[in-house]
Amino acid sequence: MDRSTPHPQTPTVATSSVLPEGASTVGLSAWADIDLGAISANVAELSRRAGDADVMTVIKGDAYGHGLVPVAHAAVAGGATYLAVAQLTEALAARAAGVTAPILTWLFPPGADLVAALRADLTLSAGAPWALAEIAAAARATGSPARIHLKVDTGLGRGGAWREDLAGMLVDAARLQAEGVLDVEGIFSHFASADAPGDPSVRAQQEVFAAVLADAERAGLRPRIRHLANSAALLTNPSSHYDMVRPGVSIYGLSPVPDIGGPTHFGLREAMRVTARLIAVKDCPAGQGISYAHLYTTSQDTRLGLVPLGYADGIPRHASNLGPMQVHGRRYTVAGRVCMDQMVLDLGADSPAQVGDEVVLIGREADGEPTAQDWAAAIGTINYEIVTRLGPRVPRRYPEGA
Ligand SMILES: *Cc1c(COP(=O)(O)O)cnc(C)c1O
Repeated sequence: MDRSTPHPQTPTVATSSVLPEGASTVGLSAWADIDLGAISANVAELSRRAGDADVMTVIKGDAYGHGLVPVAHAAVAGGATYLAVAQLTEALAARAAGVTAPILTWLFPPGADLVAALRADLTLSAGAPWALAEIAAAARATGSPARIHLKVDTGLGRGGAWREDLAGMLVDAARLQAEGVLDVEGIFSHFASADAPGDPSVRAQQEVFAAVLADAERAGLRPRIRHLANSAALLTNPSSHYDMVRPGVSIYGLSPVPDIGGPTHFGLREAMRVTARLIAVKDCPAGQGISYAHLYTTSQDTRLGLVPLGYADGIPRHASNLGPMQVHGRRYTVAGRVCMDQMVLDLGADSPAQVGDEVVLIGREADGEPTAQDWAAAIGTINYEIVTRLGPRVPRRYPEGA
């Protein structure tokens, strides 16, 4: 593999389409209102719970579907002092859009344009010797030290260096720091099962992390920012807070531990509200099969409502006959198959619903509405996936005081 020539042009990431402030929803099939005030308030609440630790908010995946750039600003307004994304492309997109807060990125392949990353004042994660070497080369090319966070695999079994393999990297990093090539600002790791607070792996990973910090010190490194806690650890395990916590899902008002408590339990508020309009309403006789493969059959003379969202918009096809929605305050479940662009509700014979009426797909737990957590529970996944997969065909609105 030729690692000497960086990619000439770093690809950009797509973010969802955004409606101008105050834009009407008349004529829209569906839309997602993102309450940035809720995100700021959630970050402030998480910061309070984190005690002395600073807050790095995770805004990867287009801020879990909420919109990278608006969320970056809202998080900083709520007290976040650091932002984090997965892909380098996401970090560059945030910078290009004027986000000035420190940003950590932990996913880039060999040959990525790290010179561009350093010129954009990004903080790079180094979890393998090749990454450390490429960062050092890029730093030499720019003439100023690269700010890095060393990434350790304390037992997740995913990214980062095992403790044994980090030993050599610590020596190299200490030397490069002494030469003025690197600033080893941070060191971090990630939990496998922080959402199961009693799981023995949680304590075991913390013990490895503590050992790694001692290794670093022996190598002459004392990174200023040690961080380990995702949302679940932040909310359930204060001993994991260290210098900085690294919440993602909770800043969006979603619980990482729904079995322990929902957002209200943790003083958080859901930021995403997804609404669609009934695009057709019609009478339907009893005994009619509904949608592809007729997985549902009407049991009485009824009225059908057509919801113009489908798996192209991120509605899971697995939510066929399962996904919860609300019309005029009444709960319904998807009738039959979720199609690419549409799905059907059996509204009942006495429904007052008319074409154009609103359908709540994702609302607030506190208001008794269907939530991302309800969709997740219905199909056996996690709330993270429900909000993150909401597609770009659903425009985002950022109403003031939503
Ligand atoms: C996604 C991610 C987080 C955020 O996790 P949440 O469970 O959403 O709080 C933190 N750290 C790393 C390394 C991640 O990949």
